[in-house]
Amino acid sequence: MTDNIIEKLYNSGNLTDSEFKLLIETDDKDDVKLLTKYADETRQKYYGKKVFLRGLIEISSYCKNNCLYCGIRRSNKNAERYRLSREEIMSCCENGYELGFRTFVMQGGEDSYFTDDFMCDIIHEVKEKFPDCAVTLSLGERSYESYRRLKEAGADRYLLRHETASDSLYRKLHPQEMSLKNRKKCLFNLRELGYQVGAGFMVGVPFQTTENIIEDLRFLQELKPHMIGIGPFIPHHDTPFADEKGGTLETTLRLLGILRLMFPKVLLPSTTALGTISPVGRELGLKTGCNVVMPNLSPVSVRKKYELYDNKICTGEESAECRVCLENRIKSAGYEISSERGDAL
Ligand code: SAM
Repeated sequence: MTDNIIEKLYNSGNLTDSEFKLLIETDDKDDVKLLTKYADETRQKYYGKKVFLRGLIEISSYCKNNCLYCGIRRSNKNAERYRLSREEIMSCCENGYELGFRTFVMQGGEDSYFTDDFMCDIIHEVKEKFPDCAVTLSLGERSYESYRRLKEAGADRYLLRHETASDSLYRKLHPQEMSLKNRKKCLFNLRELGYQVGAGFMVGVPFQTTENIIEDLRFLQELKPHMIGIGPFIPHHDTPFADEKGGTLETTLRLLGILRLMFPKVLLPSTTALGTISPVGRELGLKTGCNVVMPNLSPVSVRKKYELYDNKICTGEESAECRVCLENRIKSAGYEISSERGDAL
């Protein structure tokens, strides 16, 4: 039914709002097949069969924010909090380097312990020891000056999902003190400062409509990020959204395919959340246009504590086991791990 629309998206990279709505909501098997085929063709045209690895180091589960969906929100008194020391972070990088990682992603809740001075020192040390590696940060909203200093210290990339581009939905997912305006401002600041920027959103978050998702697509067209991280929303038992439904595999895959056709050269991760809602979620993501995976490099002792949502996978394994498991999954899906840094084209 929507095959003409898929052809149009494949050829032009864009659709009208009503066409996007039809495509996002279709459950026609032939449509989904065609979208998947074109998404894979497009990723292979630019990236071949390469899959880039990003070693994820979850540096802190302390967070000053209180996002309603997130397991490490400030009000979750049951969350076990930890932060990694500089030595622990460096040892994750050393371990990761030996395993072949050439990008380290330092992610955490918004934790004031990680001041600019502290982060700049770590970034300097990582870049000095591993000059062929990219440093990616994902530490939430900070000031322009802070982003500037971190960039100057050597950070290459920054991941900050916009979460939703709809003001009214943003309000339903976040407390009053947070604002979509500031989140967007941060993203434009990061881009202006020369970072490779990653934005993105959750699929199937409570109250989200197809129209909201179309707003996300339009915002991404405006921002033009280098990377787009989307994954299903998964409820966490100690949050206000504990009893809500999570996002589905089908809708997430459909959106990945749409994003690949809209942004042919973008870096598109097949996320841990996708692997959590389906045992073959990450493989299916790779077959639908994804070209990045982010295995966990955090020490096993803290992994369960960085619990953003329930039943998160890969929390019991050593980094080396994760690396082997992912390599097998990537091969089984018909792709190959690239040992490059994996910058956006
Ligand atoms: N504090 C940083 C920030 O705000 O960007 C990075 C950490 S934050 C926990 C990383 C991402 O986790 C968020 O951008 C959000 O999209 C995702 N996330 C949080 N709770 C989730 C949930 N319940 N299900 C799926 N993803 C979730």
